[in-house]
Amino acid sequence: MEQKDLLGGKGANLAEMTRLGLPVPPGFTITTEACRAYLETGWMPPGLDREIDEHVAALERTMGRRLGDPHDPLLVSVRSGAKFSMPGMMETVLDIGLNDASVVGLGRASGSERFAYDSYRRLLQMFGATVLDIDAAAFADELEKLKAERGVFADVDLDVADLRTLVATYQRVIRQRTGRDFPQDPREQLHAAVRAVFSSWRTDRAVLYRRQEGIPEDLGTAVNVQVMVFGNRGPGSGSGVCFTRDPASGAPGVYGDYLADAQGEDVVAGIRNTVPLAGLEDLDKPAFDQLTEVMALLEEHYRDLCDIEFTIEDRHLWILQTRVGKRTPEAAFRIAHAMVTEGVIDPDEALRRVTGDQLAQLLFPHFDAAAERIHLTTGVGAAPGAASGRVALTSAKAVAWADLGEDVILVRRETNPDDLPGMIAARGVLTARGGKTSHAAVVARGMGRTCVCGADGLDIDVDRGEVLVGGRVVLEGDVVSIDGTTGDVLLGAVPVTDSPVLRHLDAGEEPAEVDRALVDAVAFVMAHAADVGRLEVRANADTPEDAARARRLGARGIGLCRTEHMFLGPRRELVERLILAEDQTARESALADLLPLQRADFVEILREMDGLPVTIRLIDPPLHEFLPDHTELAVEVALEDAHGHRSTRHHALLDAVARLHEQNPMLGLRGVRLGIAVPGLVAMQARAVLEAAADRVAAGGDPRPEIMIPLVATAAELVLVRAEVEKVASAVRTERGVDVPVRIGTMIEVPRAALTADRIAASADFFSFGTNDLTQLTWGFSRDDVEAAFFPIYRDRGILSVSPFESIDVDGVGALVGSAARLGRETRPDLHLGVCGEHGGDPRSIHFFESVGIDYVSCSPFRVPVATLEAGRAALEGRRTP
Ligand code: PEP
Ligand code: MG
Repeated sequence: MEQKDLLGGKGANLAEMTRLGLPVPPGFTITTEACRAYLETGWMPPGLDREIDEHVAALERTMGRRLGDPHDPLLVSVRSGAKFSMPGMMETVLDIGLNDASVVGLGRASGSERFAYDSYRRLLQMFGATVLDIDAAAFADELEKLKAERGVFADVDLDVADLRTLVATYQRVIRQRTGRDFPQDPREQLHAAVRAVFSSWRTDRAVLYRRQEGIPEDLGTAVNVQVMVFGNRGPGSGSGVCFTRDPASGAPGVYGDYLADAQGEDVVAGIRNTVPLAGLEDLDKPAFDQLTEVMALLEEHYRDLCDIEFTIEDRHLWILQTRVGKRTPEAAFRIAHAMVTEGVIDPDEALRRVTGDQLAQLLFPHFDAAAERIHLTTGVGAAPGAASGRVALTSAKAVAWADLGEDVILVRRETNPDDLPGMIAARGVLTARGGKTSHAAVVARGMGRTCVCGADGLDIDVDRGEVLVGGRVVLEGDVVSIDGTTGDVLLGAVPVTDSPVLRHLDAGEEPAEVDRALVDAVAFVMAHAADVGRLEVRANADTPEDAARARRLGARGIGLCRTEHMFLGPRRELVERLILAEDQTARESALADLLPLQRADFVEILREMDGLPVTIRLIDPPLHEFLPDHTELAVEVALEDAHGHRSTRHHALLDAVARLHEQNPMLGLRGVRLGIAVPGLVAMQARAVLEAAADRVAAGGDPRPEIMIPLVATAAELVLVRAEVEKVASAVRTERGVDVPVRIGTMIEVPRAALTADRIAASADFFSFGTNDLTQLTWGFSRDDVEAAFFPIYRDRGILSVSPFESIDVDGVGALVGSAARLGRETRPDLHLGVCGEHGGDPRSIHFFESVGIDYVSCSPFRVPVATLEAGRAALEGRRTP
C-alpha cells in the first residue's frame, strides 16, 4: 500500500515534508482506514478518540500551548485529504479550540481582539454548517443583516463590538437549530469535526465528483489535524501560493502570489490584490530566501513541478501544503522535456507525464481566450479546432464562396457524400443531427476540419436561407464561429490562433522564437514515443493529399482507404449506369469505364505511401447513396411528364431509387453484400488495385496493397469474395508479368464475425476491427442518431459516462475484439490485427488495444501524432505490469 492510500495526498505530502525537515505546522493524520471503518459502522473505531487525544497532548507539549487555554490557546485545523485530490468537495473546520474563555486569551496573546472574535465567529459558522448540519444560509443571513444594520459593505468593516454581537447571534442560531449549545470543550469540538470530515466523503457533490472523475467510491478520506498558523497577524505576516515553474507556460523560474497580513483563503478569494512572489523579497528577504530554498528542495524531491501553499506568521515561514502542480498542456510538454535535459527524469518518465489529450489541444487552432463570445447553442464537439466563417447552407454555396476567398462554415441538417466538396471548401462543418461517428464527424476529422455536429438547437431552412437558433435568426452569409472541442456555436467572428506545433510537424515550418521551446519539447517526446511504441499507427486516408499528410505526421501506412468517394462527382453517372444496367454488357461497360479512374486514384495513393502498407477497402455504403434523392427526383420526373418531356432515363432512375430504398440502410445492402449482389463490382475494384500496384512496380516503386472486405458476417461470404479477388490477382500477374504481393483480409464489424473469428480467419490474412459498426451493432445504437438523441440523458442518469462511439466499451465491444483476436490467432498465429474505427485515434481505447495484442491502429491523419504518443505510453504501461 502506498503512503497516499493511507494518509491521503495531503497527509502523505505533509509527512514527507516533515521528514525532509521543512517548517510544517506540527500535526498528525488520521488514516483513510479509520474513515472507512467509520463509514461502514457509523461509529468511531474503538480507541480512535483516545488516540487523537494522545496526539493532541503531544502537540501541546511541542508547542508549549494548550488547546482551549484561556490565556494563549493552541488552535488546530481539521482538513480532509483523499488519495486523489477532490478540490472543494469535502469539509474543513478551522480554529478548533476557541470557546468563550480562550477567545479572550487569543485576543490578548495576538494583540488583536478583532482577530480573535473574527476567528471565533468563523469557527461557529464552519462548525455549525459542517458538523451540526445547519443550513449555511442561516449564518450568512445573520451576517448580512448585521452589515446592513451597521451600514457597512465588507466583512472587514465590522469592528470588535460587531463581531462579539455576531458570535452571540451565531451561538443563538446553533442553540435554536439543534437544541444544544455550541460545545465549549475543545476536545469535543475536535472529535465532532473529525467525524464530520469523515462523513463529508458521502455528500452528494463528492459522490458526483468521484463518478465524473472515475475515483473509486470505497477509498475514504484521511483527516489532517494541524496547528493553526496565522498570516493575518500584522505586516510581518502573510499568506501565499507559489509554483516551482510557471504552470501556464512551463518556463523555468519561480512563480506565485503573496498577500501580506492575510490568511490563505483571502489569497484565493481575491479580496485584496496580491503581489507577485518577487515582491516578498523586498518585504521579508529572509523568509523569501528560505522559501526559494524550500521550492528547490521540493522540486528536487518530487522531481516535478510543485505547487506550494505557505504562511508567514511573525516572520516565521510555514509550509502548509504541497502537491505536484496542475499545468497546461504546453507546460506539461515543456516541463517534461526540460527535466530530461536537466537530468532529473528519463525520457520514459517524460512520456508518462504527457497525454494524447494534451497533445491534441496543442495541435488544433483555438479561439483567443480573451475574445468576446455570443453563445448561440451547443452541439457535439466532433472534430477539434476552432473556425469562423460565413454560414453556407449548401455545399455548392460553400464552394462558390470559398472560391472567392471567403471563410465558410458549412451548415447542414446532416451531411452526406454529396456535401464533400463543400466540406473540403469550408473552414468548419456544423450539423443539426448526428454524433461523433456521423458522416460529418468522420469526414471532417479525416480532413482536419473543425466540426460540431448534432446541434439540435439549429432549425435550418435552406429555401429561406436562414437558421433559427436560440430565438435568433442567422441568415445565410452571416458569420458564426464553432468550437470543435466544446461543441459551442457562437455568433460572429472570434479570432483564431493556429498551432505552431502542427505547422512544424506537418509542414516542417520553423517555429517563431516564442514557440521554439514548446515545439522542441513536443518533437522530443514524440520521437521517444515512436521509439518505444509497439502498436503501429496508420492513417485512414483516401486521397493522395491525405496520404502524404498522414505520412508527414508519422503514419506507418494506411489502415483504411475508403473507396466510396471515388464513386462521386462526375463519376456518379458511371455508377448510375452500373445500377441501371439491364444486361451483362451494359454492366461490364459501366465497370470498364470506372476501372481506369479507380486505378489512377490508387496509383497516386500507393506512390505517396511507397514502401508502406495501404489497406484498400472495397466499396461499403448502400448504392442508393450514389443516386439522387427520391423526393427531388420524383418531383423532377412529375414536372417533366406534365410538360410532355418524358425522360426514360429519369424514369428508370426513379424506379431504381425506389427499388433500392431500404428502411434500415445501415443493416441493408452494403459492404460485402453489395460485392456479392452486383456482379463484377469486386473484380473491377480488385483489378484497379492490382493494376495500380503493377504500374507502381513498373515505375520502380514498392507498393504494398492490402484488399479489405467490409461487413463480413460469415466465413462463407469471405470465401466467395476472396476467391474472386485471387482470380483477378492471378490474371493481372499473368497479364503484367509482375508478381505484386497482396494481402487479402476482412473487417470485423458484425458481432457474428467476431464470434466466429476462428472460421473467418481461415480466409483472412488480416483482420481490421471496424469498431464503429461493431459498436453500432453490438449495442443496437444507430451511430448517426443516438449521440444527439438521448446520450445526454444517458449521461445524466449515469448509464454512460462516455459515448461508446468515442471510447471503446471495454466490457462489451472490447470483449468481442479481445476474443475475436484470440480466436483468429488460434486459427492463424500470424494473423495481422488492426483497428480502423474511430477508436483507433482515441487515447483510452489505444491502451485497451495494446492490452489485447492488436498490431496497429488506424486513425485520421490529424490524430496520427496523438495515437503515436499514446501507443508509446501504452507500451510503457505494458512494461510496468508484465
Ligand atoms: C467501422 O465501421 O468502424 C469502419 C471503419 O467503417 P465505416 O466507418 O466506414 O463504416
Ligand atoms: Mg463500417
